Amino acid sequence: MATTLLRTFVLKINFKFLYSYFCQKAKWNKRKEFDYHIFNYPSKKVEITNADVDRIIDSAWSVWSGAKIGLKFTSSNLETATIKIFFVAGNHSDKWPFDGEGHVLGHGFYPKDGIIHFDDDEKWGDKKGKGKQLLYVAVHEFGHALGLGHSNDSSSIMLRSYTGYRANIVLSQDDIDGIKEAFSG
Ligand SMILES: [Zn+2]
Ligand SMILES: [Zn+2]
Repeated sequence: MATTLLRTFVLKINFKFLYSYFCQKAKWNKRKEFDYHIFNYPSKKVEITNADVDRIIDSAWSVWSGAKIGLKFTSSNLETATIKIFFVAGNHSDKWPFDGEGHVLGHGFYPKDGIIHFDDDEKWGDKKGKGKQLLYVAVHEFGHALGLGHSNDSSSIMLRSYTGYRANIVLSQDDIDGIKEAFSG
């Protein structure tokens, strides 16, 4: 699987906008409806089942649809789906090997790649103190796949670092501004 991670994005951070987003080439060109396919499930799950993973991934997309700009995400059985989700460990199919448990938890490739990798060396869970919070990391990586970079806003889901379990995963105003920009003409 050949993928290109666009490193040449435009970091647009000024007084008004804390989010960063990518150059015109890294947009979905107003496409707003996406299908996604989950290729495999985590090897190390903490008190969650594969069905829970399906539900969590669905919830993560719902967080972005909550921006109310017409984004729609549907699960697909087809490997040709626009967005492709994998749990992979160590050296895998791209130039960005994972690093075992801890530190890097996942990466999402920018438009129009559609590929999202979660580190399969992590223990993934859904409750406080029960592994890494898949919902949090999924919402973050999906943000990248939709065209967002990192934000310096501490309330943003696009903050560079995983800050631990969050009871309430919602988009900050900064995330909403960012996703609107990512899908603007
Ligand atoms: Zn990867
Ligand atoms: Zn990130």
